[in-house]
Formats: sequence, C-alpha cells, structure tokens
Amino acid sequence: TSQDRVFNFAAGPATLPENVLKKAESELYNWRGCGMSVMEMSHRGKEFLSIIQKAESDLKTLLSIPSDYAVLFLQGGATTQFSAIPLNLCEPNDQVDFLVTGSWGDKAFKEAQKFCKPHFIWSGKSEKYTKIPSFDSLEQNLNARYLHICANETIHGVEFKDYPTPKNKDEILVADMSSNFCSKPVDVSQFGIIYAGAQKNVGPSGVTIVIIRKDLIGNAQKITPVMLDYKIHAENNSLYNTPPCYGIYMCGLVFEDLLEQGGLVEVEKKNKKKAEILYNAIEESEGFYRSPVEKSVRSLMNVPFTLEKSELEAEFIKEAAKEKMVQLKGHRSVGGMRASIYNAMPLAGVEKLVAFMKDFQARHA
Ligand code: PLP
Repeated sequence: TSQDRVFNFAAGPATLPENVLKKAESELYNWRGCGMSVMEMSHRGKEFLSIIQKAESDLKTLLSIPSDYAVLFLQGGATTQFSAIPLNLCEPNDQVDFLVTGSWGDKAFKEAQKFCKPHFIWSGKSEKYTKIPSFDSLEQNLNARYLHICANETIHGVEFKDYPTPKNKDEILVADMSSNFCSKPVDVSQFGIIYAGAQKNVGPSGVTIVIIRKDLIGNAQKITPVMLDYKIHAENNSLYNTPPCYGIYMCGLVFEDLLEQGGLVEVEKKNKKKAEILYNAIEESEGFYRSPVEKSVRSLMNVPFTLEKSELEAEFIKEAAKEKMVQLKGHRSVGGMRASIYNAMPLAGVEKLVAFMKDFQARHA
C-alpha cells in the first residue's frame, strides 16, 4: 500500500509518480482487454504501436517539439549517446567544443575523443564543479561542429538556467538533459540534439530519448554500428530492432500524467517550490548545512549538501532512513548528501526532509 512506501531521494533510477505505478499495476496482466501484458506483446502489433505512437505524440506536445525534429526511443543509456553523437555528427578529424560543468560532461568528452577532436572551451573541474561561467567570456572554436553541454549535472547539482548560443551559425548545441528532462519547458529549437536517459524524471531505466533536428540525420561515420545510427532508428520509428517496450510504455504513462498536471509550466512551478524550501533550509541553518554550488546555478533537481560537522553525515543518513527518507547519500565521488527531487517527488517528501533537517540540527548543533 502507499503507506509502505518511502520517500526515495535517489538520483536514478528514481521515484515514479504513485498514480503512474498504480495505473501500470491495474493493467499489468491484461492491457486494456487484449489478454496480455505490455511485456508480452509483439513490438510490431497494433497494441504496442498505439503505445509508442501515443508516447511520442504526448512528448511532442509536452515539449512543443517542432515538426522538423525527430523523437527516438533508444537503448544503451545516455552513456551510449556519448559515442553516438560524434559518430553521427562528425568525421574523425572534426572539431567539437565542450563546456564542462560536472563529471557527466567530462565523461562525454572522454568518449568523444575516440571519434572526433573535442576540446574544452571551459571546465569547472579545478573549482570542483560549482559554477557555470558567463557565456560572453568563452572562447568558442569557430570550426566546431557542435557545442556539448550537460544541462543538469546530476552529481554536482549544477544546472544551466539559460543556454549558450554557438558563435558559428552552423555549429549546433547538444545537451545531455538526463536529469532535468521534462522538469520545465525548454525551447527545443535552440538545440540540434537533446538526449536523456529516462530513469530520473520520466520512467524506468532502459529507455534513452533522443530529440534531433532532422537535417542532422544521415551523416554517420562509415564505422558507425547500426544500433548507433540515428538514420536507421528514425526511418524505422524506433522499431528497427526490439525496443525496450515496457519502459516506453511507462514513459508514456508519465507523459500522460505530466500533461494532466497541466504541462511543464505547472510542473516547473512545483519543482521551483520544492527546491526553494530545501535550499532555504540549507541557507537558514547558518552553516550547519552547506551547499557548495553558486546560488545562481543551483539545480532544481539534485541538491547536494554537506554538514559542517562532516563526522555526523553517516548519522544523518541513517536517521533519515529510519524515518523512511532513503538514498540521501551523496555520490561516491563527492561524498556528503544529495537529495534528488525530481518531478515525482511530492512536496510532502521535501517538507518532511526539511523538518527532519531542522530537528537533526537542534539535536546536534
Ligand atoms: N548523464 C547524466 C547527466 C546522468 O545523470 C547520467 C546518469 O546516470 C548519465 C548521463 C548516464 O546515464 P546512463 O546510466 O543512462 O547511461
């Protein structure tokens, strides 16, 4: 029952909306009278075709995706896109730019090195990834094929609030939106490619969504494996091979739910409110809790924080778990705590966490 559920602050796979899980449960054995589960259907049957087409069209509505963009439902996680992107957009000697604001962008850079010539126009590594530079100060490479950013760095909690425009008009902006996908409205036309693993804001792991401007499709390097070639997937409406059917179905249920909430403008309002009360609690603790990230770029999705008395962190995490607030440990590379408060985290979960933080401080200050 709902009462048995915890508030799950995990970074991904992450909490899903309870009504979505209930809906999936209600049609688990027999999807809308067809006599079988979505897991058991042919991906080429009319039932599954209706599921994937509805998911795609609802996503297009949610993000107001222009008609010159294709939506692909792929596998391999966002990590596979780190290589698929240069393999589809570049020849091996082509230059590309990276603006790196956290370790995911850095991983994407390292993978791109195998397939093209990336270079950093900025990296926040030496400052422990706590900020985003002003775009005017950046020296962009006028020959770069694309500029890659990670719109929200999941581990460091650094989120772009607006986006750089490449100086060269043929250069496109590519964004990893894995951890803030569908958390707010986005002007898709600013980007050549947006990609996201589903397992944070919109579904279970196993589905990767790619939104790509259609004119960028069809230029893959000769060595590109068929599974990484956007042209193959676009021509086959994401059904070239067996897709992650159940995951796509779950994403579809989440998209429906987001539309029912009033779309991404409404969703963003809720996300802002949740983030605000959590960051305020950190600020008001007078140093007992600390956020390392520069205020103007703090993520609405992933909130890393530390304790001034770092020896109490393990105790904090243990006590929170006893009160059914789980997965608050920071990423192993940075330590401390991290509360991921994606779309599906209810306001009540954040309020409970903040009340616990105040009580913990009162007992340990
Ligand atoms: N990019 C970002 C921003 C992420 O948070 C993650 C998280 O897992 C990844 C990429 C890697 O995604 P995946 O595990 O789906 O390959």
